[in-house]
Amino acid sequence: MVFIKVSFKAALAAVLVVMVGCSSSPTGRKQFTVLPDSQMNEMGIQSFTEMKKETPASSDAKLREQVQCVADTLIAVLPDKYRNQDWEVVLFNDEQVNAFALPGYKVGVYTGLLKVADNQSQLAAVVGHELAHVIARHGNERVSTQLATSQALALGYQLSGEESPEKIAIFQALGLGAQVGIILPFSRSHESEADLLGLEYMAEAGFDPRESVQLWRNMSAGGESKTPELLSTHPSNSNRIKNLQANLPKNLPIYEALVAQNKEAKCY
Ligand SMILES: [Zn+2]
Repeated sequence: MVFIKVSFKAALAAVLVVMVGCSSSPTGRKQFTVLPDSQMNEMGIQSFTEMKKETPASSDAKLREQVQCVADTLIAVLPDKYRNQDWEVVLFNDEQVNAFALPGYKVGVYTGLLKVADNQSQLAAVVGHELAHVIARHGNERVSTQLATSQALALGYQLSGEESPEKIAIFQALGLGAQVGIILPFSRSHESEADLLGLEYMAEAGFDPRESVQLWRNMSAGGESKTPELLSTHPSNSNRIKNLQANLPKNLPIYEALVAQNKEAKCY
C-alpha cells in the first residue's frame, strides 16, 4: 500500500507561510502555491509508480529511443534546477492520444500520441508543453486551491489500488484526470502559459516551433471517432493557435539560428 501523508499541522503551517509571501510563475504571473516542492515531487513520483503498475511500457526499442531523444533534448534547455535532474521518461504501450510530465522529474508518453504527432517537432510541442506545466508549478497551484477549499489533503492520500476519491483528487491535481476518468481541465491561464513556455523550450532545443501549430490542428482534426485524451485535460480553444502564431516571430529566429549552425534537433 502506498500512502502520501500531509499532516494537518504541516498543511496549516504551509497556508500561513503563503499568507506572508506569494510566488510568481516563470512568466511573472502571481501564484497561490502552499505545498513545498518536495511534497509535490513525492506525489508525482508515487503517481508515476502507480501508472507504471497499470500500463505496460512499449517494447519497441526504436520508438522508445525517439521519445527519449525528444525529451532529453528539451530537458537540456530547462532552467538549471530542472535540467540537472535525473529525469525518467517512459513510453507507455497504450492507444491513448496523451502525454504528461510530473513533479519529481517524470515524463510519460503514450504510443497513441505518436500517431497524431507526425514528426519530432510535433512530439516536442506536446512534451515541451507538459514540461512547462511542471516548471510553472501548475500542479502545486491546483493542489493549493483544493487545500484552501477543503481539508482533504490533511487526511492523507491513498494512491494504490482502486480509484479512490483520494487517488482521483491527486491525479486531477497533477493533470492526470484522463487516467482516472474524472476530468479537471487545466485552466485557460495555465494552458496559455504552458503554450508560451513550451514554444520557447522547443525553439531553444532546436525543434521547429511552427510545428506546434500543426500539432494542435492535428489534435482537433481528430479523424478518429473519439476526442484525444490530451484534449480532455488540456482543452484547446480558438485562441490557442492564434497565441502560438503570435509568438512565433519571437521564437522562430532562435530555431533558425540553430539550423544555420547545423545544430537543430535530430532525433528522427
Ligand atoms: Zn496543458
